[in-house]
Amino acid sequence: MLVVKAAALMHQPVEEGTVLRPTVEEGPLTEQQLGLRQAEERLYRDYIHRLLKVRKRFISYPNYQYLCKLCSVHIENIQGAHKHIKEKRHKKNIMEKQEENELRALPPPSAAQLKAVDAAVVETARQHGISEEDFEVRKAMVIRMEGIIQRHLSGCML
Ligand SMILES: [Zn+2]
Repeated sequence: MLVVKAAALMHQPVEEGTVLRPTVEEGPLTEQQLGLRQAEERLYRDYIHRLLKVRKRFISYPNYQYLCKLCSVHIENIQGAHKHIKEKRHKKNIMEKQEENELRALPPPSAAQLKAVDAAVVETARQHGISEEDFEVRKAMVIRMEGIIQRHLSGCML
């Protein structure tokens, strides 16, 4: 149930074997369990997920408790996870992910922005675009070149 809720919140699919708040069973938390939970919640925001004790974990990575979804690396324990989030590669991946998230969250352009872009395109075409006359001259050139080429290579077209 938690997995489904987490997936909905994060707008991304949660793979088999990962979970948001996995550490503790029913009942009141000990201070240590609470600390671990908070640490894991913090790591989750850094894209590091705790692996469940599922078959996959035992087969492929028996000693690894965490997975960094950004870097696709398995991490042995919470100390390793803290070390991992300080690594250059992870920091770079986090920055790229943040940029991507920001770009995805951009609002659509307003009517005024569309009008401004439209005007800029028209003005650029006016300054640098070719005239009808120019176009005809170039077209005639292409036809002449095609004629010359076809004399030697009959199947060629421009
Ligand atoms: Zn990472």
